[in-house]
Amino acid sequence: MKCAYCGQVTKGTKEHIISSGILDLFSECYITFDETRRKTHLSDPMVKDVCSECNNKRISYIDSYAKNVISKYFVKEYRENDKVEIEYDYTMIQKMLLKYAFNDMRAHKDDCSFFDEEIKHFLTDSGDTTPKEYITVLCGLAVNVSPIPDAFMGNLKLRWAKEPVFFSNGTIDYIDYETGQVHINNKVEKQTFIDLRVSYVFRFNSVQFLLLCWDKTSADIEQNKTILKYQYPYYLMNANDKTAIIPICTDEGNYFQFNHIHVSWDLRFEVGKMRKLASGGRFQYKELYEEAWKEEEKRIIDEHPRGE
Ligand SMILES: [Zn+2]
Repeated sequence: MKCAYCGQVTKGTKEHIISSGILDLFSECYITFDETRRKTHLSDPMVKDVCSECNNKRISYIDSYAKNVISKYFVKEYRENDKVEIEYDYTMIQKMLLKYAFNDMRAHKDDCSFFDEEIKHFLTDSGDTTPKEYITVLCGLAVNVSPIPDAFMGNLKLRWAKEPVFFSNGTIDYIDYETGQVHINNKVEKQTFIDLRVSYVFRFNSVQFLLLCWDKTSADIEQNKTILKYQYPYYLMNANDKTAIIPICTDEGNYFQFNHIHVSWDLRFEVGKMRKLASGGRFQYKELYEEAWKEEEKRIIDEHPRGE
């Protein structure tokens, strides 16, 4: 086997697609649903083409950062009105998401030509602290504003998908406020971006990250970033801000359909509010269910302890 990072021909070691340290934080999610291969299994998602030197020494600093940032802010669930401010290291966030995307693409035997020597060097060199201009990252808070408890849909706290669908306009045409009737927009087109090479969406419990990798030589990166910044309810991460207040990026529809990226002005946000107000401002049975589910999770964690 040829190591995916250094190219050395040696025995491959198991590399977690998403850091084991992050999986450890959510041991109640012990089943892997591989949607591409339509398989369900009990082992962690892995790829086995990294040498032990790269796996255990060169790239493990990224896993340490990833575990810290996720455990510090995103193991917690948030509500609509919570103000969530985080401190972050932009270069490390870029490295973390690039590594996961690269792992996932290798596991699916996709074309990995974007991950050239420059990117591999960026990932394996902990001393390289200059973020890449041709990588864009956005983040948003995933809050379940729907009346449906999370566990109804499979307790999917950790999810990732290649090529999220960016909508170019709202998914609802208009709301008739007299009757409450919602008119769906059936003609929403997908937003396309010039020179986009690789894109991913990651959900780590209460946060969503969008990773967009552009052609290095593209002249349209700034224009693409402007569209992303103003069209979607996400915070555009960057090297200058050290802290960020993260906006809610989910509505009652795409909280579960997490790879659908709705525009900021999508009326689904409004529909969700109307639904909640019509229920007296809270979803009391959802709350009861969620309380009971917490107890169930404790039982699941006891039954399925993690370990190699
Ligand atoms: Zn190696």
